[in-house]
Amino acid sequence: MEQVHACKPRRCLVYDRHNQLVCKRRAPFQVSDNDFVTDTGLWGPKRLHGYINSWVPSILLNARCNNDGKFLTSGADTKNITFYVTSYAAKKQGKNYNVSAVMADGYAYHLEHPKPEYIDSVWDQQRLLLFRLVHSINREQEIAGLMVISYLMGWGDVFRSHTYSPIYWGSFMSALYIAFPQLSGRVR
Ligand SMILES: [Zn+2]
Repeated sequence: MEQVHACKPRRCLVYDRHNQLVCKRRAPFQVSDNDFVTDTGLWGPKRLHGYINSWVPSILLNARCNNDGKFLTSGADTKNITFYVTSYAAKKQGKNYNVSAVMADGYAYHLEHPKPEYIDSVWDQQRLLLFRLVHSINREQEIAGLMVISYLMGWGDVFRSHTYSPIYWGSFMSALYIAFPQLSGRVR
């Protein structure tokens, strides 16, 4: 557990719109000798160290995790945090989360309602469609002269004047950072 926030490149340090490196957790946090609420509704906890978040001691001890207490001053704040926590814990409905269940349901229906005369004719129609499409391409497709020669000579369908080898960019970048630590945080 890291109770004191330490800003690190590529973790919390990001570039703002003025191209300045800033902490996306907004550290250092505002320091104050006392808890405060202003007339305009601004509030903050007592904080004596700018890099420690507003953790709650009893949550820290009992749940053994860092936490960030927030004082809910309005219905809008409460609504926002409720939606955030609920969708964080329950997960949002993504596009594909229930696809497997939908497919299992469809497959079960398919098994329970056999109709070979219909299925067979669908299969035949699909096969015929694909067959006709492939033959149209075979018959009508325009092919470059070079391609024709390449096929006739048995040279295959790709010509390359060079050979290529893969570059593992991640390994390259970490080797670069090890050799030149001063680059960390400047190169993105
Ligand atoms: Zn930070």
